[in-house]
Amino acid sequence: MRDLKVVRRIADLRENVSQWRATGLSVGLVPTMGALHAGHVALVRQAKSDNQRVIATIFVNPTQFGPSEDLKAYPRDEAGDMAKLVDADCDLLFAPDVTEMYPQGFATSVGVSGLTEHLCGATRAGHFGGVATIVTKLLLQALPDRAYFGEKDFQQLQVIRRLARDLDIPVEIVGVPTMREADGLAMSSRNRYLSATDRQSASALPKVMRAAAARFASGEAVETVLAEAKAELLEAGFSKLDYLELCNEASLQPVERVTAGTRLFVAAYLGHTRLIDNWPVA
Ligand code: AMP
Repeated sequence: MRDLKVVRRIADLRENVSQWRATGLSVGLVPTMGALHAGHVALVRQAKSDNQRVIATIFVNPTQFGPSEDLKAYPRDEAGDMAKLVDADCDLLFAPDVTEMYPQGFATSVGVSGLTEHLCGATRAGHFGGVATIVTKLLLQALPDRAYFGEKDFQQLQVIRRLARDLDIPVEIVGVPTMREADGLAMSSRNRYLSATDRQSASALPKVMRAAAARFASGEAVETVLAEAKAELLEAGFSKLDYLELCNEASLQPVERVTAGTRLFVAAYLGHTRLIDNWPVA
């Protein structure tokens, strides 16, 4: 096992990548906000199996948090993260500070219209603009062959695919299936906010999603299944739902009937903690 090299400056990131390129090595990039769990590790392992060198990035990006969101409280554990990255055979960690990424006078943003107004975009104003801007910067800073994103954040994955295509960024965007806890809950850095009771309630989320997906697939009426699934989540202890919707996975627009590429999307609160998930239907 090699040591994990850590760089905090864009120039040092570029220097490492150009040395690899000079010897013909392929490069995979795994952007994260840290507080790494097995879902992030799966992205790094996938990247390592597809590429000769892998860069993970840790940057808690302020521009993707709304004013009432958890930027200050977002979990940070760089030492623990590094140990996990070493274990996953990551080659380089890029962990810049905020001024490196947003120097004084920073004035540009990347917006992806159409895909960002619905689902999480409806309640998290500015979130996808922040994501699109930072991911564009990371892709252009590292210029990897491939970049890896989780299907857990499915809307984010589609937004990133679109921006890479629209801006002609020469990178392959790779989506990686969601890693789940034993009870099916999608792994998330935010799960650690859950109290023991809320953690128990959280296991209803994948169960309700899986059952609803099966009912849709068997032809039951969409409206009825959605209404019953919402009621089940509230009954299980969820305090509020931002959405539980059946959408086309390419357009992310709601659909009334199940056709190829239909996916169930949810965002629901347990106390102050907002959990998201999605489930293929057909
Ligand atoms: P985050 O640090 O939460 O911004 O996530 C960084 C990357 O890890 C994103 O591409 C996420 O979609 C991905 N990710 C987060 N949770 C999971 C999971 N449970 N399974 C697979 N990928 C995940």
